[in-house]
Amino acid sequence: MTPPSRLNSLAARDVASVFHPYTDQIAHAENGPVIISGGEGVRVTDDAGKSYIDVVAGLWCASLGFSNERLVEAAAKQMRALPFYHAFASKSHEPMIELSEMLLARAPVPMSKVFFANSGSEANDSAIKMIWYYNNARGLHEKKKIIGRIKGYHGITLASASLTGLPYNHKSFDLPLPGFLHTMTPHFYHGALRGETEEQFATRCADELEKLILAEGPETVAALFAEPIMGAGGVILPPAGYFPKIKAVLDKYDVLLVADEVICGFGRTGQYWGSQTMQVQPDILTCAKALSAAYLPISAVMVNERVFGPIAEETHKLGTFGHGFTYSGHPVAAAVAVETLKIYDEMNILDHVRDVGAYMQAELRRRFTDHPLVGEVRGTGLIGAIELVEDRATHRNFDASRKVAARTAKHMENFGIIGRPLPGDGLAFSPPLIITKSELDEVFDGVGRGLEAVMQDLAKDGVSLSV
Ligand code: PLP
Repeated sequence: MTPPSRLNSLAARDVASVFHPYTDQIAHAENGPVIISGGEGVRVTDDAGKSYIDVVAGLWCASLGFSNERLVEAAAKQMRALPFYHAFASKSHEPMIELSEMLLARAPVPMSKVFFANSGSEANDSAIKMIWYYNNARGLHEKKKIIGRIKGYHGITLASASLTGLPYNHKSFDLPLPGFLHTMTPHFYHGALRGETEEQFATRCADELEKLILAEGPETVAALFAEPIMGAGGVILPPAGYFPKIKAVLDKYDVLLVADEVICGFGRTGQYWGSQTMQVQPDILTCAKALSAAYLPISAVMVNERVFGPIAEETHKLGTFGHGFTYSGHPVAAAVAVETLKIYDEMNILDHVRDVGAYMQAELRRRFTDHPLVGEVRGTGLIGAIELVEDRATHRNFDASRKVAARTAKHMENFGIIGRPLPGDGLAFSPPLIITKSELDEVFDGVGRGLEAVMQDLAKDGVSLSV
């Protein structure tokens, strides 16, 4: 495919050589990339010098923005001291030990050990393999099925994509693999029955889960994975009382609960973990992204003693734990993560997120609740979304082919805001945790202008909104 001649030379080289993740390859070949060449604070700059605030901190991850010198120094220092060593066969190094201790000290519930990987997907795949191993260790060879939730997002490797509950992660990939099940999305706005309270809706979600476990046979079900707040599937907050009710069902059938904190962890929700904000009591916790402020790839799986004990016994029987990545606990990534957690402590990240997050939530509601395109405004702390609907009375979304949120995000880019459209026409907000109130004002001004522009598009398309 020859790149169109209007693309500049770097863009043409991109089109000629890069297979982009999460991208329509044919549209990309036609339109070319947005090339980001620098960053400062919460802003990034493209190769034409245009500056943007990215409303989801890259991919919900650049928590400390794009120019933190302390993280650069921490990486350089560790590279000079020991650029690489692995953790197989009892080898260790100080950055990994220090990071493990720091994570255990900060865990939302007592945890026993920390395993490292390089991405959220790898962390979740590792957790799934640990759960299978754990049940084999207990002689429960049938107890292997893993439950995710429709619209849940857990990554894209074979097992984590199977767990993910979004159609585009399954379609044409021959996924999900057998043994992965999905229970209902706990989204009150769309899922509640007429007259149902949040509490009643939460009870119904727990009942549905129980029905699924009973239909499959509890002796075959091993674990449920859940994000405390669903991120990529739409920024969906569970209804009041949801997780305690879910946990009661899981405990009844000896099913483990895994909290996927890949987005929610490290202050995003106003508590250190989304599990604390949403009353999740996990046996296993996976995290990534803000663990290193996204400066280097690293993820972690924390397991409690209930899970670690039988696994440890089995490794002794077999002579090893036959799982691990070359870069598990990579010293440079671990050193950067240690520095990141120290920075969070020193800047009182939770106080900052509570203050600026309260402002973000209030402004989102003040500015957008009554907007003719907006059905729901939701969120807590520094995570939120507005959902665009065709009919505010019935909560009916636009036909997906109209791509209303994606078009809004495209307009927002013209106004210096990189937006993030979500499935179901949500627009996500998950900015760097260091963002200020005045920077948020800039974001919301750009969002408002993007919404006005898309209203004009829709009017041209002949769409009339039922307000
Ligand atoms: N889990 C959650 C909740 C995520 O949001 C993501 C990525 O966005 C993942 C897992 C996968 O992480 P990664 O892209 O690092 O594999």
